[in-house]
Amino acid sequence: MDLFEYQAKEIFAEFGVPVPQGKVASTPDEVRAIAEEFAAAGKSRVVIKAQVKTGGRGKAGGVKVADDADDAVAKAQQILGMDIKGHTVHRVLVEEASDIAQEYYFSFLLDRAQRTFLSICSAEGGVEIEEVAATNPDAVAKVSIDALKGASPEVAADIVKQGKLPEAAAAGAVEVITKLWDAFVGKDATLVEVNPLILTGDGRVVALDGKVTLDTNAEFRQDLEALASAAEGDPLEVQARDKGLNYVKLDGQVGIIGNGAGLVMSTLDVVAYAGEQHGGVAPANFLDIGGGASAEVMANGLEIVLGDPGVRSVFVNVFGGITACDAVANGIVHALELLESRGEDVSKPLVVRLDGNNAELGRSILTERAHPAVRQVATMDGAADQAAELAAAK
Ligand code: GDP
Ligand code: MN
Repeated sequence: MDLFEYQAKEIFAEFGVPVPQGKVASTPDEVRAIAEEFAAAGKSRVVIKAQVKTGGRGKAGGVKVADDADDAVAKAQQILGMDIKGHTVHRVLVEEASDIAQEYYFSFLLDRAQRTFLSICSAEGGVEIEEVAATNPDAVAKVSIDALKGASPEVAADIVKQGKLPEAAAAGAVEVITKLWDAFVGKDATLVEVNPLILTGDGRVVALDGKVTLDTNAEFRQDLEALASAAEGDPLEVQARDKGLNYVKLDGQVGIIGNGAGLVMSTLDVVAYAGEQHGGVAPANFLDIGGGASAEVMANGLEIVLGDPGVRSVFVNVFGGITACDAVANGIVHALELLESRGEDVSKPLVVRLDGNNAELGRSILTERAHPAVRQVATMDGAADQAAELAAAK
């Protein structure tokens, strides 16, 4: 589970890693209040940072330095609502501005191939580390970490040396790295990345950015629930999570519902392919309603997918297994009735492909019901094509 920058920094602070002071805001008024608080404390320069779970915010214009509260509000107005790589900015972090002397890169991650933990350190930070690794591999140190020994001060000193961090930053960086290791272990993280880790004008080493991925397998001993609900994110994803649905919002026009993660993923592929033939429409979401596919689950799924204003057609792709196609077809019929009784609009075209166990029976149930929004296509490719065509036509 990926965290927002502000959540990553809260964890850093909990483990004693120096971070700039900051607070999260979702409206310009909140931004003004926070910026005025900083100004009253003699820190009128603040940074407004988009809180979205993707990198490269700086390049996209989602990180801006402001001189005073008025400027902070103006910059926040530019950033709130901005789209960064398909992520809408709902909140910003308002932080005291830092005086940056140098920018470094540091991370701990799980190295699955080597079956161990790895640290990556470079004196060339602030830019994408993949880029540095490609153009100047000698500038990127990779040091594996013995899980039982961890990142002791000696190990951290070795990492700092191999990463070629300057003497002025060495002691501070060693301290930050040992504390980041404590956070990495303490929170069951699979990634802790700080880019940039900075040296300030007055010689302190501070985590200016933070990316943390937590291992959801550790749910039994970590309070992931609190982090996930605070994480909010897309309102449809929040709604889906509340309904126990496995839904990921994407940015296309063809809503997708399927049973089984593998089937849904290949459905995304065929729709993306068909979409290219129809003027560039794309899948609007991932939604796996699982093996059960009861009327209620189908209704909840349809409600979420139809609730996405970007959706222009829906592809329901079901392969009947233990839950046979006739049960799924009844589920679709009842789901549509349920939604109509709730006053939901179900006029967007639904392309249904049923295959597998009791496919014939399932198809005849839908044919008999003859709901105006529903049309059936026998093959997955054919149905994807039709769904893409309908989405493009609208
Ligand atoms: P990212 O682009 O999503 O990785 O966002 P970062 O948090 O890494 O910020 C991008 C860049 O903005 C940093 O590398 C800095 O150069 C700059 N930046 C961020 N905070 C500050 C700040 O407090 N002061 C100054 N001068 N620059 C900052
Ligand atoms: Mn960064």
